[in-house]
Amino acid sequence: MRLLVVEDEPDLRSALRRGLAREGYAVDEAADGIEAVSRASFVRYDIVVLDLNLPGLDGVEVCRQVRDREDPPLVLMLTARDAIENRIEGLDAGADDYLVKPFDFGELTARLRALTRRETPGRVELLQVGTLSLDPATRDVEIDGEQIELTAKEWSLLNYLMRNAGRVVSQEELLEHVWDDQVDPFTNTVRVQVGTLRRKVGRERIETVIGAGYRLRDPDAVPSASG
Ligand code: CA
Repeated sequence: MRLLVVEDEPDLRSALRRGLAREGYAVDEAADGIEAVSRASFVRYDIVVLDLNLPGLDGVEVCRQVRDREDPPLVLMLTARDAIENRIEGLDAGADDYLVKPFDFGELTARLRALTRRETPGRVELLQVGTLSLDPATRDVEIDGEQIELTAKEWSLLNYLMRNAGRVVSQEELLEHVWDDQVDPFTNTVRVQVGTLRRKVGRERIETVIGAGYRLRDPDAVPSASG
């Protein structure tokens, strides 16, 4: 999950970035509305955590602009306490949820998880590919009912691959959705993380498609007649 945190207060902004990165999100920052709109025009964010009161372009306008495109990100608006009319304005502008400041960090991560569950309606919450399962709510990963331990980054990588199971996912796509803008695009970090993840979930589950990327599959699935 790639997130953009838009907040003009530097301490809060970097605290959010660090905290969310520890939760396994790939997090970029924007200090004002103009920067937010500009970043969101280059990167397809999954979620934008957006402060309402920003210098220059305010949160409502940023929300309108980032939502007014194909495949828009989800928007979680941060509003000042008691600003009920702001909240309504924010939701009118297309925000998917809002959180009143000051908020508890655990509350923020709970809202983010709820939002991403809402994003995939009709889908069972537990991701399952063969005997491998991942629970986005509890973050548990199991093989044959046996829990396995992953780092935050490995978990994010597996989460993305499982959501796209059966499809070849390119290194560029993984860099865009699982890593933040601090990563060197020429790095071998994707290859390295796929390698460590493979050792934990079983090599046969993550296939390398030469020149294209990686595909998560069920090694026990019977190939269909249609291929
Ligand atoms: Ca602010």
